[in-house]
Amino acid sequence: MQETGIVLNIQKFSLHDGPGIRTAVFLKGCPLRCLWCANPESQSPLIQRGKGVTYGEVKTAEEVMAVVRQDLPFYSKSGGGMTLTGGEPLLQPDFCLDLLRLAGEEGIHRAVETAGGVPYSRFEQVAPLTDLFLYDLKHHDAKKHLENTGAPLAGILENLGRLLSSGSEVIVRIPVIPGFNDAAEDARRLSGLLSGLGAKRVDLLPFHQFGERKYALLDLPYAMAGVRALYPEDLREYREAFLSAGILCGV
Ligand code: SF4
Repeated sequence: MQETGIVLNIQKFSLHDGPGIRTAVFLKGCPLRCLWCANPESQSPLIQRGKGVTYGEVKTAEEVMAVVRQDLPFYSKSGGGMTLTGGEPLLQPDFCLDLLRLAGEEGIHRAVETAGGVPYSRFEQVAPLTDLFLYDLKHHDAKKHLENTGAPLAGILENLGRLLSSGSEVIVRIPVIPGFNDAAEDARRLSGLLSGLGAKRVDLLPFHQFGERKYALLDLPYAMAGVRALYPEDLREYREAFLSAGILCGV
């Protein structure tokens, strides 16, 4: 019998969740609580209702695949595919496994975006069916990480190190957040740390304010009100630190 999962949203024509044109499948639930989270409605693993909007829906893997399949010609032309994201998709490992297996049977490229805050056994489960991991890392400092994401850094780093040395394809993604990790020293430390772990490629994600309205809809306080957005041109020097450490770096 096929697994069901709690799906927040299926976003077609995504250009920021891996290579090419992709369908991003957002799954509900995340163990982190990043202050800048642009998808606060993805954090709870439950279906939620807020001001006339329902967040989350139970779907079978086949129902999701029926949507993913619609864009097959775009994937083959652009080198795209399906990305499982969230929230933290690896909180629903059996549903992920079904989706990854079905996509694989149809030759669809499969990416999994993760923040790494799950037992490493989840990576061992999905890695044989995953073509690319997009692994988000927020900070190099354990105290700042805990204060701003609500989660300890140690396990996330350990999982990343193990995944990188397992031979899986991994792109590390760093959200660059003003006042949190945007200093030149942060770039130096993060690049040193990632170089030591064997990372080959990092993508920088400049902070934006796209999530603000969602906090109001959910009646949640927004910690980033008034913080200025960053743009790729703001991160030239930051990027240099990674290039100097021998890591490919996109922004
Ligand atoms: S890991 Fe991602 S989804 Fe989870 S709280 Fe942080 S930004 Fe939001």
